[in-house]
Amino acid sequence: MDGILLQTVEGLGDAPLVRTGCEIWEWLQGEKEELAHDLLSEGPLCQTAVSGVQEAEASEENGREIEWRHRGQLEARLREVNDAQDRLLDGAYGRCTDCGVEIGNKRLAADPAVSLCITCQQSTETEVMCCSL
Ligand SMILES: [Zn+2]
Repeated sequence: MDGILLQTVEGLGDAPLVRTGCEIWEWLQGEKEELAHDLLSEGPLCQTAVSGVQEAEASEENGREIEWRHRGQLEARLREVNDAQDRLLDGAYGRCTDCGVEIGNKRLAADPAVSLCITCQQSTETEVMCCSL
């Protein structure tokens, strides 16, 4: 009966495309706790999270600016996750907050806190997305 353990471990690799409301809620709750923890712990660990921005000399002032920007990102993400939980309670979860269109399951599986459909998301990130089309 040892083989059963192996099977369940292998099964973890694939994220299910459709999640139940309860699972989504728990995921969002976990994400919130993580974000709150990151926001509370200020200090050098912020630099590892923004490794892509290290071309500039890491002067003290620069580091502070990066830290604040990182903080802003965390706070924005926290708001996103909170909004997603609100939509879950309202029954509006899974729809684009901008145009009301249903957001694809694949997209929700990749990021359960996503609030915009792919079209609206692209129109807010045109500079980033235009190259991939
Ligand atoms: Zn939309």
